Amino acid sequence: MIKRFLQKVFSKRTKATLAINQADSIDTSMAKKITAKVHKIDKSLISQAALKTCDGLQKAGFEAFIVGGAVRDLLLNYKPKDFDIATNATPEEVNRVFRRSRIIGRRFRLVHVLWGQETIEVSTFRGHHQAEGDAKTNDSGRILRDNVFGSLEHDAARRDFTANALYYNPANAEVLDFHNGVADIKANVLRMIGDPLTRYQEDPVRMLRAVRLSAKLGLKIDAATQAPIAKNANLLQDVPPSRLFDEMLKLFLSGHAIESVNALRAQHLHHGLLPMLDVVLEQPLGEKFVMLALKNTDDRISIGKSANPSFLFACLLWHEVLAAWQTYQDKGESFIPALHMAMNEVIATQAEKLAIHNRHTATMKEIWGLQPRFEQRAGKRPFGILEHPRYRAGYDFLLLRCDSGEIDAELGTWWTTFAEAKPEDRTAMLLPDTSPKKRRKRSRKKSTATDKVVLDSIH
Ligand code: ATP
Ligand code: MG
Repeated sequence: MIKRFLQKVFSKRTKATLAINQADSIDTSMAKKITAKVHKIDKSLISQAALKTCDGLQKAGFEAFIVGGAVRDLLLNYKPKDFDIATNATPEEVNRVFRRSRIIGRRFRLVHVLWGQETIEVSTFRGHHQAEGDAKTNDSGRILRDNVFGSLEHDAARRDFTANALYYNPANAEVLDFHNGVADIKANVLRMIGDPLTRYQEDPVRMLRAVRLSAKLGLKIDAATQAPIAKNANLLQDVPPSRLFDEMLKLFLSGHAIESVNALRAQHLHHGLLPMLDVVLEQPLGEKFVMLALKNTDDRISIGKSANPSFLFACLLWHEVLAAWQTYQDKGESFIPALHMAMNEVIATQAEKLAIHNRHTATMKEIWGLQPRFEQRAGKRPFGILEHPRYRAGYDFLLLRCDSGEIDAELGTWWTTFAEAKPEDRTAMLLPDTSPKKRRKRSRKKSTATDKVVLDSIH
């Protein structure tokens, strides 16, 4: 009964969909078909959620493939970090197949299918944007909106690199390859599909993707793909800051941040184009600290640990905070209020420019705010710091400051030993309290007196 109902729903495909997809007869004649024997993809590296999504779509009568970075990573024998599915079903149709799914996006409408903790992104085959429809470009050719659906072949041609345009069908374990992507991967080459300059004009972020993916995957950028980058770097000026932010964040958290930053510099993709990168490269005092932070992030990722973007942003802007903190003190503000003023000022001037979201700035302030508290090694205060919810991030930050030579390494060592010591041994480690004694507050005296009266009256 339910099955019949579902069949009825899915057979009611709108006229538009049929016109868009010519769904049921996918032409794969232009693609090389690479069998499991040849590509040797290890199926155990594929997420169950991705397999279930393909299966669900195929059972509902649609085509569905694992596509993009996941297939590329599988061919390189890496475990993919996320899985994208391409299908001839429209977003509405995908949404109807999976109860736990939602349509998202404006510039690029797609569907998130939820399986427990995992989200699988499903997109409908995109068509040529020259075709009449819902594709919009600006004067420099940048695509603003891209919701023209098309055939599998068109979808492949619209992807950026040959290595990213491979389609894996879990049902027969075959890879469809329209642009010689498998051969390029085997030859360690990252090659743009189509005319590289036009593709960069359509979407300048592809220049950053070329640099990031080549660093991350150890692929060499093909000469023709590389050539237009330096000359057209200024196209990046036109990209909305939030997209640059997303791409730079991916780059910093790719596990290959140092290499990527050096490659961006070599390709002249900085200096006024990528505010986030300028912060890294154009602070003589802070460069060592920032490079150490990136190295630290790369090391964490290489051993499978997570890296917190807020921590990274706190690192990127720390030396600006230090400079502003000093300026406020020079103007006569006292130590801690001056730090708070400096933090607010740096956030106000930099967060917008770098498109850092509010959810990060709160954590950044907590990490910075803990730094002077680490200097206090007497009395009860160190115990309080250990209980602070951001203690770990603050402590890691402190160690980076020590490693960069900004502060004495002894402070970091003391905190390491203090935190690792048994609770009963910690008191012996405390330093003598040299801070000026606080004057007793009048209100406290008063309340003591009142307490005495109350106590007297009880007795
Ligand atoms: P990563 O390993 O960082 O996730 P990725 O290639 O999978 O790399 P995604 O942003 O997840 O990157 O994109 C998924 C796929 O979408 C890509 O493999 C590519 O086929 C396509 N794609 C992404 N961005 C672009 C773009 N700017 N232009 C054309 N195709 C793109
Ligand atoms: Mg991906």
